[in-house]
Amino acid sequence: MKTVQLLNYARDAWIPGHGVLAELTSAIDGSLVATIGSGGLDFGDMLRHAREVGGPALRAMTFHDRARMIKGLGLAIMSRKEELYELNYLTGATRKDGWIDIEGGAGTLFSFSSKARRELPDAHVLLDGAVEPLSKSGSFIGQHIYTSMQGAAVHINAFNFPVWGMLEKLAPTLLAGMPAIVKPASSTAYLCEAAVRVMIDTGLLPPGAVQLIVGGVGDLFDHLTGQDVVSFTGSASTALKLRSHPVVQRESVKFVAEQDSLNASLLGPDAAPGTPEFDLFVKEVVNEMTVKAGQKCTAIRRAMAPAEHLDAVEAAIRERLSATRVGDPREKESRMGALVSTDQRDDVRGQIAKLTAAGARIVAGNPDASPGIAGGAFMEPILLRTDDPWGTAAVHDVEAFGPVSTVMPYRNIADAISLANRGMGSLALSLFTLSPDVAREFVQGAAAYHGRMLVIDRTNAAESTGHGSPLPVLVHGGPGRAGGSEEMGGVRGVKHYMQRTAIQSSPTMIAAISEQYIPGGPKHEVKLHPFRCRMSELKIGDTLKTKSRAVTIEDIEHFAEFTGDKFYAHMDEEAAKASPIFEGRVAHGYLILSFAAGLFVDPDPGPVLANTGLENLRFLTPLYPGDSMRVELTVRAKSLKSEDTGVVRWAVEIFNQKDELVATYDLLTENVP
Ligand code: NDP
Repeated sequence: MKTVQLLNYARDAWIPGHGVLAELTSAIDGSLVATIGSGGLDFGDMLRHAREVGGPALRAMTFHDRARMIKGLGLAIMSRKEELYELNYLTGATRKDGWIDIEGGAGTLFSFSSKARRELPDAHVLLDGAVEPLSKSGSFIGQHIYTSMQGAAVHINAFNFPVWGMLEKLAPTLLAGMPAIVKPASSTAYLCEAAVRVMIDTGLLPPGAVQLIVGGVGDLFDHLTGQDVVSFTGSASTALKLRSHPVVQRESVKFVAEQDSLNASLLGPDAAPGTPEFDLFVKEVVNEMTVKAGQKCTAIRRAMAPAEHLDAVEAAIRERLSATRVGDPREKESRMGALVSTDQRDDVRGQIAKLTAAGARIVAGNPDASPGIAGGAFMEPILLRTDDPWGTAAVHDVEAFGPVSTVMPYRNIADAISLANRGMGSLALSLFTLSPDVAREFVQGAAAYHGRMLVIDRTNAAESTGHGSPLPVLVHGGPGRAGGSEEMGGVRGVKHYMQRTAIQSSPTMIAAISEQYIPGGPKHEVKLHPFRCRMSELKIGDTLKTKSRAVTIEDIEHFAEFTGDKFYAHMDEEAAKASPIFEGRVAHGYLILSFAAGLFVDPDPGPVLANTGLENLRFLTPLYPGDSMRVELTVRAKSLKSEDTGVVRWAVEIFNQKDELVATYDLLTENVP
């Protein structure tokens, strides 16, 4: 392959760095792949461009516009994935490893896109929680909202997943309406640069939305402000250096960190040799040691088993490891490729030396062996063992970021919890047990120290997504040593790039600000029944006011007979009177809901396709025989579920003849967009 100089993408142009260029080599044979450098870039100007050009363009789009944009980026990655797979091999990764990085990265964009279209409004502002009543008459209320931060998100990524690592940060950032400046780890920057090129080529990104720095970040941090966010993945030492930067401190720059993590996996006390859980545990430990040559932030570094089963665990892992073929990642037979570089391999060997110096023994693999191709960064998977996990502190503190794991015993669940938590904060932990009691005791004792926990047994293993796979819909991050942050987690991850503000005003003002109907806010009574309108024709605040109908004792008795719900409050006048809540027999809540539907539903086929649910239902005032009821049905919010289905959220308010609110809820319908 021809050596190329990777380009920076600054101010919407591809720009070569000047001055000294760093050389990037292939993990397979050490040959030169590319050169990089960011000399000559004006980092302050890049930040300004993001804030002044990218930010406003993204903020002009709604959540749904941005969701469609990131889906388009994912489709482009998929359509050009083979270009990326070719570069993936040079990082030492097999095709299977590359699938996690490349297709996993595109999948993350798809997942965020569809979650955003389902869970975020087609608007610019996100509400946080319900209205807080602050006054007697309701003229003054509080509402928390999220709006896009107005700076730039600086993404500093690790070497191990050059595509996924970038996209898992870009998806929530762009959805939030914030531009990003991406700085990949140097050693695999050629793969990240290629993926950025694919996205820029789509033309979907507005100017200034994404910029790329290949090489050092120069004085970028000197120009940060409190509207910027730094999102970092890498070592704890670099994280500490960057989060201690005086400008980060002075400006209270939001700092999201994913760093070192000594993740654990635990064989439950019930999972003796011969049980499916034992076999699943062994398989998962070996898988996590060898996928991506163990260079995964979530890989299992500490494998814990009941003391009486430790010999069996060690033997089973050794046997499986012996079948792991290490070699050229381009060859199908290779189960494990190379580490990213010979420097990284030296680093891993150094960490193994620290573990053995502390008392752990190597029970499988030779760290000094160099299998595979000459000049490449290959190594054998290394299994260590300690029989004294409390006396060997290093096994909980030293992360060998390669195909390395340590098996260790525990005495009982309390001991296992303490050992798991001794990692001082991790990204992922798995427990293999069939016992709900073990699961409850362990998870309640250890969850505070771990960002994600899997409890695996014979019933869910086949469909499990695995110990080491962060998922876009679940949080990725962990306390303490793991960095103390959370990424992804669906809409939670989007909020990292938005500011929460408490707004206090009238319902009218808050409805205008949030682009949603708020109870007490303005309504526009419509003549044409809203069920006759496509979603795009409905406006927020459009309201159907129904006629009113009486509710009689015969209605209540008929409903009770028909449904079988003969609860005393509906059927027994004396008992109802004696209750502290009612003055006599009352209409069933379900009867009120049914009558409400009878009042507001327009029966003919049309753009409303289905009722998909009710939310936030509250019965506020009892309805007595002889009372009457009417409904106000208001368009609260609209969102797109797919290209051809929309979801309308209707505020349903049911009033009695005195205009007291009897019941209120949100009705969700699927509509033709
Ligand atoms: P580093 O912390 O050295 O690098 C991480 C990122 O930070 C890279 O993009 C790197 O760029 C950048 N960086 C380094 N120094 C600076 C600086 N002064 N200013 C701005 N950016 C900087 O980690 P490595 O990638 O070398 O990995 C080392 C260790 O990190 C691993 O052994 C592992 O323990 C841990 N790690 C943890 C991960 C996790 O998700 N928890 C993932 C990957 C690694 P450059 O490459 O150009 O130096």
